[in-house]
Amino acid sequence: MSEKIGCQDSFRQAGLFESPERFDFAEQKMNRWGIPLEMEAVIRERDQACVYCGIAFLEADANGGSRKRVATWEHIVNDARIVTLENIALCCNSCNASKGAKDLVVWLASDYCQRKSISRDSVASVVQAHLG
Ligand SMILES: [Zn+2]
Repeated sequence: MSEKIGCQDSFRQAGLFESPERFDFAEQKMNRWGIPLEMEAVIRERDQACVYCGIAFLEADANGGSRKRVATWEHIVNDARIVTLENIALCCNSCNASKGAKDLVVWLASDYCQRKSISRDSVASVVQAHLG
């Protein structure tokens, strides 16, 4: 028996079959998070560091297994229905975990943000645009 992993098996291992209804990339042109591929490309180009703390992103395995600095998809306004260039951004896993479902303004006043000197003046302009 061959040990070789087929294409479908590698997709399955990567979790790409978790939401079969979303898997029709060719038709919907979206990634598995429901973000249109063209929008994803623009955001990846724009957000090369965490939009909140500004840390440079690392690949998952480049930091001794820590995922704190891995890029994650973030809804700045925590509403999954708002899929726009203004509301979708890349932030580090650490900020994403801290922000969770909190309102942006509430989160900016948190201990986490104080400790990391994250303020309305320090965040990326895509975030500042939400702060009036
Ligand atoms: Zn961050």
